[in-house]
Amino acid sequence: MHRYRTLATVLLLLAGQAAAEAPRLVLQITVDGLRGDLLDRYAENFGKDGFNYLLNEGVVYRNAHYLHANTETIVGHTTLATGATPAVHGMVGNVWYHADSGELGYNIEDADAPLIPTRLVSQEGAQLDPAQKRARSAGRSPRAILAPTFSDTLMIASDGQAKIFGISGKDRGAVAMAGKTGTAYWYSTNNGDFQSSTYYMDSYPDWVSTWNGQGKAAQLSGKQWDLLMPRGKYRPGRQDDRPYEVDLKGYSRTFPHPFGPRDHPLFFTRVLVSPEGDRLLLDFGKHLLESEKLGQDEITDYLSISFSAVDAVNHFFGPASLENEDVILQLDRTLADLFKFIDKRIGLENTLIVFSADHGMAEMPEYATELGYEAGRLYGDEVLAMARGSSTALFGSGKLVKDFFRPYLYLDGDAINEKGLDRNTVATALAVELAKKPGIGGSIPGGSIRLGNSSGANEAVKRNHHPQRAGDIYIFQQPYWFMFDPGAVAAMHGSPWSYDTHVPIIFVGPGINAAAVERLVHPVDVAPTLSSLLKISPPAAAEGTALVEVVN
Ligand SMILES: [Zn+2]
Repeated sequence: MHRYRTLATVLLLLAGQAAAEAPRLVLQITVDGLRGDLLDRYAENFGKDGFNYLLNEGVVYRNAHYLHANTETIVGHTTLATGATPAVHGMVGNVWYHADSGELGYNIEDADAPLIPTRLVSQEGAQLDPAQKRARSAGRSPRAILAPTFSDTLMIASDGQAKIFGISGKDRGAVAMAGKTGTAYWYSTNNGDFQSSTYYMDSYPDWVSTWNGQGKAAQLSGKQWDLLMPRGKYRPGRQDDRPYEVDLKGYSRTFPHPFGPRDHPLFFTRVLVSPEGDRLLLDFGKHLLESEKLGQDEITDYLSISFSAVDAVNHFFGPASLENEDVILQLDRTLADLFKFIDKRIGLENTLIVFSADHGMAEMPEYATELGYEAGRLYGDEVLAMARGSSTALFGSGKLVKDFFRPYLYLDGDAINEKGLDRNTVATALAVELAKKPGIGGSIPGGSIRLGNSSGANEAVKRNHHPQRAGDIYIFQQPYWFMFDPGAVAAMHGSPWSYDTHVPIIFVGPGINAAAVERLVHPVDVAPTLSSLLKISPPAAAEGTALVEVVN
């Protein structure tokens, strides 16, 4: 009897200890478009409690690279979330041909999950994101994601007791991380509110309506984005005005950047293309943490925050701009504010933080050319025209090529059948021709790794290849070449080259000893590492492995 009671006491003690060790909150921070070298580049002007909390207290992976070729937002976020590559999780690009309709579609579009209107009246904001323009409905949900996320796995392991949320300046940055079992909110460039869809809820909780009712984004009407520090303190060589920067119809290529009046069609977009976008997200996140009572009990909760301003600023001004340096320095202060809030409410000692990015960013081709590395711009319609020209030359008809949307070229099966040709033969022959064109770095049919001029890139294309969603030929550009849709964009990501695959990965939390790690690791390792730390199984389709510097 006595012996049994002792054993029971020991077991209870052990159970108590294990419970005390489990973090109360997993905070996954993703900075959209934060290339792996940028933290080192700007470190001297960071404060002590923002990025430096992560860099000084955490395990810092300085050589983390995505394994897939199409380094775009939904692909990177879903890879971080699931620990799988797009060949498995299915999010092969921001846009692909949807088999059900035979049309191009947006990655998280879902006509069965309409947006829930917020209290503020919407104005018609101008849509600058070419991926969003391909959405055939306003509805959004995670239904197209084919693998469970870490957040899903945590929800299931907690018997449905964990609270799971994903928030972002972008719909896809929020939806991918919240998985199928969590709840996502994202910023609207129509009215500055945070919104969600009927996939997640029937109506907004009071705290969301109250937050939106304050109209915090609209209060920036007439204000502007100013530099944080005196101009002379920024890096030498930073230029504020290059002719190939984009001024967003009066937002200006140089500081200060005026948001304009709130009824300007680009007002709420400009707010997102500034440090204010990240601050609004933080403010919404604080209200979420408080109102949903995250991290207040022994059951580990999950919050993903995906900051969008760095990517937006990169696209319009480039990663070598004064704007890029400033938006990252201001994000440093925003993160310090977030960590202080978490410390007060939950305790940093009870919080496991994982930090990364969904992709990197290329320098602008004109800038690379000015420095002596010649590069140019390729637009989707030019790639399509080249492919149709090659098809005409080889097979007597341009109609065998249906469409091109980065990164895939799609063939027309009916037109190929009419000519009595074989689809694979056509794809292979066209790929050989396209690989010879200026600016093309690789042209690979059907996920095959037989062609193309870089074995690493070819392997990355294979890892991007989901048979139901990939097009017939994967096309990517030469290094520093730009490939995108026509329109006002200065710089792009999306290639398999290292400036696009390189991202930071940092883990900070209870029991983790600070270290800087140079060995090559991959974002597919993030979800399995979180799972190991929480002593749960990795997400079902995860391909990565737990990072030993974190879990040992
Ligand atoms: Zn992105």
